[in-house]
Amino acid sequence: METIIRCSSLSHYSDCPRRAAAKMFFSEISEKYGFDLTPVNTSAGAAVGTAMHKAIEAALVLRSRGLPYIDEVKKVTEASILETAREGIIWDDTTFDKATGAMQAARQAHAILDIFPELQEVSIEGEFTADLGDDFILSGHIDIRGKDNDVHTIQDFKSGVMARVNIPQYGGYSLLVRSAGQKVDLLREIYVKRVGKTKPQPAPIIKEYEPAMAENFAWAVIKKIKSEMKAFRNSGSPWVWLPNPNSMMCSEHYCPAYGTKFCKCRKKDLKNG
Ligand code: SF4
Repeated sequence: METIIRCSSLSHYSDCPRRAAAKMFFSEISEKYGFDLTPVNTSAGAAVGTAMHKAIEAALVLRSRGLPYIDEVKKVTEASILETAREGIIWDDTTFDKATGAMQAARQAHAILDIFPELQEVSIEGEFTADLGDDFILSGHIDIRGKDNDVHTIQDFKSGVMARVNIPQYGGYSLLVRSAGQKVDLLREIYVKRVGKTKPQPAPIIKEYEPAMAENFAWAVIKKIKSEMKAFRNSGSPWVWLPNPNSMMCSEHYCPAYGTKFCKCRKKDLKNG
């Protein structure tokens, strides 16, 4: 049986390895090992981010053909938020309903499109996989690849109330692209802040990373995930993964292990726990 490790999981792993494992290996841990993990809904931030990504991709395709894209951005963001809302969104103080989410996603998309350069040899939304050995597979969905002034870049769009550091994710992308025989010179993140609807949209922030450093970071996380999952398959004990109850995401809204036998660090209901 193949075990998929997604590049997008690498950056969160060290925040709480046990939560990351519960999310990554939800089916195996609950079905094969009988732990009572609880599915969690999509956060408002993730829902807005997904809508923004879809809108940017659609707009870049139109822009490359010299066509207008403003209406398409609006249509795509509204459709995406509606689709995610059907499965459930955990609203927050910044994004509290569908209309706000769609509006934020659209203006974030425009903020990025306004500064995003015309690249050469562009590839949008590429899916890559690589064999990590021992039946583990690394998988990643890369937003954009392209040459910028003869520099081979991987470009990733991020949004959120707070900027996070995602070096291992980008290192994973670099490993995937290079293992497919293609060149990577630079990893670039374009971050746009999610702010309340009455506040002006801040301009995007660009961060760049060297592929070699990011790949080393990604490898270190990948090796840990592999060895800890193998240890869990031998022992069946959640204690192969360190819990971090101090994590900002330690909440029943974001963690499938919260208040379950898989992680008893926190209880859902202290009176009945
Ligand atoms: S309940 Fe908190 S400590 Fe336990 S796995 Fe979830 S996030 Fe980590």
